[in-house]
Amino acid sequence: MKYKKLAEIYDELSSTTKRLEKIEILSKFLKEIGESDRDILYLLLGDIYPEHDEKKIGISSQLAIKAIAKSTGVTNSEVVNEWKSLGDLGKVAEKLKKQKRQSTLSQSNLTTEKVISNLRKLPEMEGKGTVEKKISLITELLTSASPLEALYLIRIVIGDLRIGLKSSTVRNAIAKAFFKEEEKKNAIEEIQNAYDMNPDLALVFELAKKGKRFSIELKAGKPIKVMLAQKANTIKDAFEKAGKPLAAEFKYDGFRMMINKKDGNITLYTRRLENVTNQFPDIVDVIKKHINGNSFIVDAEVIGYNPKTKKYVPFQAISQRIKRKYHVERLVKELPVEVKAFDIVYLNGKNIIKEPFEKRTEILKKIVKNERYKITTADQKITDSEKEVRDFYNKAIKDNQEGLILKNLKAPYKPGSRVGFMLKLKEELRDYDLVITGAEYGTGKRSGWMSSFILSCLGEKDGEFLEIGKVGTGIKEKFEEQEEKIGTSFHELTEMLKPLITKEHGKTVEVKPKVVVAVTYQEVQKSPNYNSGFALRFPRFTALREDKPLSEITTLNEIKKDYENQKKDFKYS
Ligand code: ATP
Repeated sequence: MKYKKLAEIYDELSSTTKRLEKIEILSKFLKEIGESDRDILYLLLGDIYPEHDEKKIGISSQLAIKAIAKSTGVTNSEVVNEWKSLGDLGKVAEKLKKQKRQSTLSQSNLTTEKVISNLRKLPEMEGKGTVEKKISLITELLTSASPLEALYLIRIVIGDLRIGLKSSTVRNAIAKAFFKEEEKKNAIEEIQNAYDMNPDLALVFELAKKGKRFSIELKAGKPIKVMLAQKANTIKDAFEKAGKPLAAEFKYDGFRMMINKKDGNITLYTRRLENVTNQFPDIVDVIKKHINGNSFIVDAEVIGYNPKTKKYVPFQAISQRIKRKYHVERLVKELPVEVKAFDIVYLNGKNIIKEPFEKRTEILKKIVKNERYKITTADQKITDSEKEVRDFYNKAIKDNQEGLILKNLKAPYKPGSRVGFMLKLKEELRDYDLVITGAEYGTGKRSGWMSSFILSCLGEKDGEFLEIGKVGTGIKEKFEEQEEKIGTSFHELTEMLKPLITKEHGKTVEVKPKVVVAVTYQEVQKSPNYNSGFALRFPRFTALREDKPLSEITTLNEIKKDYENQKKDFKYS
């Protein structure tokens, strides 16, 4: 397909913030394109593979600047100057292409296939001369692009498409395009279920286009979206929602992991569907020895412990293990982990996702060989007594865990949903997961580092992030000064954010929303200073949430609710 058509669709989509209008535009477009154009579904979200695939385009603004300069015949510093005034490298490419066009006036023949093919080569490249090769792949595309095509091409390349499109909107558009009005509601649910089981939009599009039902099979070795928990306000409330008796389990303070085994091969995914197998050779080893079965998908929480004292440590102490790809052997020793297995959805060729939890937990207990500091199934109590739940909650707190997860014994496993089959019971910690959208460089001993970070929550519109405050406390100065290398330093955050910079004004920068952090605070206040309308009192950084997808960070609605409920203090013990 001509890439021109896609660029026009991007443009149309970004001209409205209304979700329904976006769905309308998209559904028309999806009807027009053929099955063989399936990979365009990735491009719509600015990607080249399904969202969980590790192969990302990953081009820095610096590299994009060079490609723009080369393809439009200007110097790098001219591009940088334009960037400073326009604040968007895409717009810079568009403007420079327009200027160039007046002298050449060529017709663009760029196809989406060519765009995808060049972009897919980028993550594969390694070794000497890589930078130059990457620049020429992008330059090749830019040279044959029209100004509008160049605008979106550069935005895709730097991972900042800015058309405010979420995968859920694309799913709704698929339902609208290929199902009759009366089927639409069921279709949306079916598509959602299929997507949660196999998060690949192009596959969902292909099936819908062929008129096939969405019976996407569960397969070991592929990531599925994890089932999420709702909040229980009281124990009574939990019994009402989860039924009597229910299964109470310790709520461990670690990170979620989906453990897959297929033909003897173990693959580990986070809840963000990132493949982290290489970061956890210790877990791979434990799984091989301690879970019986040729193939399975087991849901678990991974928790850390201090190798000397053997005491469990909070999530932030081990969060760095998720991302660090180097010195893995050292980290395995310094930050050892234990797996707490709590669910299973697939075993030896059999899909058991629809079996009731009581059956699944029984199966799990049979195949896991418990050994403390390696793997055990979650501490569990099946009960119909409020008092027993309260006592068990106190026991969990004494054991330094966060509280309890209360589970409906009769319920199936619902990937990706917060349907209330699992309820979390924990002290209101005043804790948000927010994304960094800006930062300020420090002065004095912190000069050269970003030292204050602008935090944003998820807004109500597609792709909207709203500022809610700044954080500078809770971040470490320098690792050399500390005994234990736990936490995150200014230097580390600065390095993560630098490639994400989209705008600079003096000491302040704007960055692409990518880095998710957990922040505690004392209170939510109304504030005209931030565009969310709220501000946090005494925010404090606690951890990088590398495991959390952007779509699951704290929403403005949740903040509004917390603001209203602030005075009520829930206590369970
Ligand atoms: P959420 O998962 O609701 O988006 P969150 O990541 O901040 O938010 P919590 O709300 O604190 O996590 O609680 C749910 C999480 O608790 C699960 O996603 C899982 O990672 C963790 N967890 C710990 N122990 C268990 C358990 N026994 N059963 C299920 N989940 C558990």
